[in-house]
Amino acid sequence: MTITHNLGFPRIGVQRELKKALEAYWSGTRTAQDLEGTGRDLRARHWKLQAASGLDFVPVGDFAWYDHVLEWTTLLGAVPARFAQSDHEDVALDTLFRMARGRAPTGTPAAACEMTKWFDTNYHYLVPELVPNQTYRIARRYLFDQIEEAQALGYRAKPVIPGPLTWLWLGKGDAFPHGPNDPAKLELLNNLVPVYRQVLEQIKALGVEWVQIDEPILGLDLSPAWRAAFKGVYDELEHAGIPILLATYFEHLQDNVDVLDGLPVQGVHIDLVRAPNQLNDVLAVISDEQVLSLGVIDGRNVWRTDLDKARALVETLAVRRGDRLWLAPSCSLLHVPVDLDAENELDAELRGWLSFATQKLDELAWLADSLSLAPSVATQDALQRQRLALKARQDSGRIRNSVTQKALAASNSLDRNRTPFVQRIRRQQDKLGLPAYPTTTIGSFPQTPEIRVSRRDWKSGALSDSAYQTAMRKEIEHVIRFQERIGLDVLVHGEAERNDMVEYFGELLGGFAFTQSGWVQSYGSRCVKPPIIYGDIARPAPMTVAWSAYAQSLTEKPVKGMLTGPVTILQWSFVRDDQPREETCRQLALALRQEVIDLEAAGIAVIQIDEPAFREGLPLRRADWNRYLDWAVDCFRLSTSGVREETQIHTHMCYSEFNDIIEAIAAMDADVITIETSRSNMELLAAFEDFQYPNDIGPGVYDIHSPNVPDIQWMIALMQKAAKRLQPQRLWVNPDCGLKTRGWAETEAALVKMVGAARALRYT
Ligand code: GLN
Ligand code: ZN
Repeated sequence: MTITHNLGFPRIGVQRELKKALEAYWSGTRTAQDLEGTGRDLRARHWKLQAASGLDFVPVGDFAWYDHVLEWTTLLGAVPARFAQSDHEDVALDTLFRMARGRAPTGTPAAACEMTKWFDTNYHYLVPELVPNQTYRIARRYLFDQIEEAQALGYRAKPVIPGPLTWLWLGKGDAFPHGPNDPAKLELLNNLVPVYRQVLEQIKALGVEWVQIDEPILGLDLSPAWRAAFKGVYDELEHAGIPILLATYFEHLQDNVDVLDGLPVQGVHIDLVRAPNQLNDVLAVISDEQVLSLGVIDGRNVWRTDLDKARALVETLAVRRGDRLWLAPSCSLLHVPVDLDAENELDAELRGWLSFATQKLDELAWLADSLSLAPSVATQDALQRQRLALKARQDSGRIRNSVTQKALAASNSLDRNRTPFVQRIRRQQDKLGLPAYPTTTIGSFPQTPEIRVSRRDWKSGALSDSAYQTAMRKEIEHVIRFQERIGLDVLVHGEAERNDMVEYFGELLGGFAFTQSGWVQSYGSRCVKPPIIYGDIARPAPMTVAWSAYAQSLTEKPVKGMLTGPVTILQWSFVRDDQPREETCRQLALALRQEVIDLEAAGIAVIQIDEPAFREGLPLRRADWNRYLDWAVDCFRLSTSGVREETQIHTHMCYSEFNDIIEAIAAMDADVITIETSRSNMELLAAFEDFQYPNDIGPGVYDIHSPNVPDIQWMIALMQKAAKRLQPQRLWVNPDCGLKTRGWAETEAALVKMVGAARALRYT
C-alpha cells in the first residue's frame, strides 16, 4: 500500500485568520492568549482537513507565527545578543516578534533580523544570524507541544524541521563573509548537531514514527565541503533512533545525488514536478529498504494534476516498493492558496482547471488509491472527472488567441536593436533639454485614503466611470502641479489608478484571471493574491495611454509613461504550465511593446518599464542562469525596441545585487536605469563601475521605506560618491523606489531637498 503524506500546509487560514489575529495582537487589541487560541484552532482545522483527505501522516511544525525558519531559530536558542535573551529561559513569543519586526507588545525594540526570499519563491524567511562558536540549546517547546496536540486529536504526527545544513546555509554573519557556502559556517555543526540529536530524541520519546528533515539546499550548487558534511551530520543524527525522511524540493539534485549514497536516513523525498528526470539517478543510490517519497503534485502552482501521467510515472515503483513508496505534493503547500471552494466569483470553466492546497490533497488521495489493487468507485469517478477537466482545459477556446499567436510567430523577425546608445542619448537630450543631474521619481505618489476609496467605490459600482475619471484626473493634476512647483525635471502621473503594479495590467490584459481569496503568505502577516495566467496574452486596448496623455497635457515638462515589465508580471503571477515560461513572457512582452508604441504615438517621450523582479527570476542553479537571462533580456528588448531613437526608455529595479548579472542589465540597454542603492551607501554601484556600464543611471539617493526626511548634505555626498564611480554626465537623481506607501508631508519635504541636492551638484 502506497503511503501518502504532506510536506506542509498553508498556515495563514482560508480567510487569513492568522493575519488578522497577529495584527490585532501587535496593535494591542487582542491578548497573547487570544492569539494562541487562533493558532491552535488553525492547526486543528488544517490537520483535520488533511487527515480527512486520507493522508497517512499529518505534518507538524509547519505552522509558524511569522516564519517557520524563525520558529526553528528560536527553538535552537539562536537569538542575537541585541534581543537580550537570557541563557536559561525559554524564548518568549514577543522575542520572536521583535526578531521579526523589531518591536512587539512587550520588550525593548531592537533592529529586526534580515528577511530574504525562500529559494525561488515569493515567500520570505528570516535569516538566521550566525556568530563564531555560537551555542545552541532547546529554547522553545512549541514543536513538542504541537506534536502532542496533534496526537491528542488522534492524528499520526510527522514533525517537519529544517535540516541542520540547510539552516546553516541560510544563515549569515559578519564572521562568515564568503556567502552561503562559506566553509567556516560548517564549524558550527559541532555545537548544532548535538542539539538536533536531542530534539530527535525528544520527538522519539513522544512515540513519533517518522520525522521529516528538510534539506532543500541539495537542489543548489554546493561546494565539496558542504556536500561532504552531510555524512557526518546524519551519522550522528541516526543515533537518535528515529526514522528520518530527508526532504528535498525545488530542483534536481544533480551532482548532489551522491550525497544520498550511503547516507543513514530511512527515506528520501524528491520533487518530480520540477525535476521529473531525476528519478533514475536517485533510484541508483538509494536502497530497496529505504522509503522513496515522490512529489508528484505541484506544490508551486494552481493547476489540476494530470493524474494519469503521475500514475504512469510511479506505477511500477508502487508495485515494487509497496509501503516504501510514499506520495506527496512536490513541496510544502505553503506556496498555493488554501481552498478553491472559497472562490465564488471565478467562472465555472476556469475553476474546473484549478487545484488549490485542499484540492491537491484530494488529488493525492485519488492517485494513491488508483495504485491499489481495487480502487474505489469514488476514486474511479474522480479520475474520470479529472481527465475530463484536463481535456476541457486543453480544448477550451479561451486558451489560444489567434491574434497573439500570429504576432508571436512574427515576433522573431522584429528587430530588438535600437541605434547605439551614444547616438540615441544625444537625440534624446536634444529633445528633452534636461539639465545635468536630472531629477525624477520612480512613479507612484502617496496613495491617500481618498484614492483608495475612489478605486474601491468604482470597482464596486458605487462610483460611476465619469466620477472616477474626474477623481483620478484631479489626483494627476495635483501631482503634476506639485512636481512642477518643486522643480522636478521628468514628471510622473503618480499611479493613483493602480492598486498593484501587476494586478493593474493583468486586469486589462486577456489571458489573466483573478481570485477573490487566493491568498498566499509573502512574509509574516503579509499575503499576496497572485493573478493566474491561464491563456494567451492579449491587449484589447491601450492600458495606460489615456492617463499618461492627460498628465502630459497639463505640463510642458516631460511626463514618464509607466509600465510593469514582462518578467515582473510573470514572476508575480501563477503561470500557465502548458507552455514554457519564456513563451508566456514573450507574449507579455509583445503586449507591452504595443503599449510602448502607443504611448510614444500619444506624445510621451520618456517611458519607464519597471523590472523589480528581474533578478529574482534567476534559476536556483547557476548553470541555468544564462538561458534565463537570454530570454528575460530578449523580452525586455522586445518590449522596448519599437520606438524611435529619441524616445527615452527607463527601467527600475530594487532589492537587487547586480554583480553577477551586470552583463545582462547592460544588454537590456535601457537608456536610464534607476536602482535602489541608498541603503548600501552606493556600494551596489561597484558592479556598474567595474563593468563600465555605459548608459544613464539613477542611483536612489534616499530610502523610501522610512518616513525620515533625508538630509540634503547626505544626498549630495552620496551623489558625489556615485560621480567618482561613474561618469557624472550619466547620473540622475531620484528616490530609490516608488512613494506610494509614504505620506504627503514627508514626501514633499524629502523631494524638495532632493531637488536642492541636484541643484547644488550642478553648480559645483
Ligand atoms: N513604478 C512603481 C512605483 O513607483 C515601481 C514599484 C517597484 O519598484 N516595486 O510604485
Ligand atoms: Zn522599486
